[in-house]
Amino acid sequence: MSGRNAVVFCSASFDIDEKYNDLARDVVRTLHGCGYGMVSGGTVKGTMKVIADEARSLGMEHVGIIPVFMKGMEYSDASRLVWTDTMSERKEAMRAGTCLAVALPGGIGTLDELIETLTLAKIGRYPGKIVAFNLDGFYDPLKALLDHYVATGMLDARSRGLVSFPTTLEEFAACIQ
Ligand code: AMP
Repeated sequence: MSGRNAVVFCSASFDIDEKYNDLARDVVRTLHGCGYGMVSGGTVKGTMKVIADEARSLGMEHVGIIPVFMKGMEYSDASRLVWTDTMSERKEAMRAGTCLAVALPGGIGTLDELIETLTLAKIGRYPGKIVAFNLDGFYDPLKALLDHYVATGMLDARSRGLVSFPTTLEEFAACIQ
């Protein structure tokens, strides 16, 4: 991929409120409008399919990274698919070459991807911006946990500040410029 690329972490679930998928489409459109290409988990599950469909309809460059054991679940209309052996390699490959990591509201897989990225940024191993879209307070419990870590000395305030929690598309657009 050439140019600026963003990795998007999001839900693999079909059983979520449609407002999260509407947000996902808006986020992809905003990324595209700001000149980003997209990297995703590359499957046809849940919000991952929603963002892949949106990228395809926009003609946006979209690379899907998928472990070989998920063969049959791949989003075959991605610009490119990259196969990995493990979930850990997948996370590494998803982040590679990106200058922005976006976590949409998601489950434990999304949380794992977000926290691993933040941990790497803390030790200087992820150079990009990190944004968790806090739609309707979805990430308020995580914000509170991170603040608790800072208050107890478990996390330094600088590292806490490496992740932004926009609540609107306008705030999101400002975060990713
Ligand atoms: P979750 O947030 O728990 O729905 O997990 C979705 C995120 O974790 C995605 O960004 C994927 O990269 C990864 N993931 C976890 N489980 C799956 C799955 N069954 N199929 C595809 N991706 C998954």
